[in-house]
Order: sequence, then structure tokens, then C-alpha cells
Amino acid sequence: MLHIFLHALVPLLVAIVCLKRAWLTAFIVMMLTMLVDLDHLLATPIYDPNRCSIGFHPLHQPWFIGLYAGLCFVKNIRWIGVGLIIHMALDALDCL
Ligand SMILES: [Zn+2]
Repeated sequence: MLHIFLHALVPLLVAIVCLKRAWLTAFIVMMLTMLVDLDHLLATPIYDPNRCSIGFHPLHQPWFIGLYAGLCFVKNIRWIGVGLIIHMALDALDCL
């Protein structure tokens, strides 16, 4: 439950700290990047709290994470990249 809460709280804080007044659009975009977890539908079981998502699910592969990092530097889609990197970092916490 804390994991899911952090997936909303961290993007919210990043958006507010970085953008002040225009935070809402960035926050919504980052929330939409949660759709990356649709790749869990390919796994059995779909959700396993003890599983490390990084390197297991198709859209959580290291080379995709490199792509997501690159998106952070593309002006108009930057917040997609930031949202995905935050998502992967929070998922990686489960791997420790
Ligand atoms: Zn994930």
C-alpha cells in the first residue's frame, strides 16, 4: 500500500517543487505513465508484492529505462520521461 501511495506522492512533490503554478499538467502526465504497469497483465500472477518488477516485466527492462531517461531531455515530452524514471526508481526499491 505504501508503494502505491509513493507512486502518487513523489510525482506530486516533484511537480510542485519544479513547476510551482503549472504543476497540475505535469502531475497528470506523470500519473498517466503508471499505464506502464499494464505489462503486469502478461505475468502470472498479475501482482506479486514480493516480485522485483525491474528486469521482469517487458516495459521494466533496463534498456527501456535508458530510453525513459532519454525522454527526460526531450522538451515537449519531458514529463513522460520524468514520470517513468520516478516509477522505475520506486519499483526498484522493491528489489532491495
Ligand atoms: Zn511498475
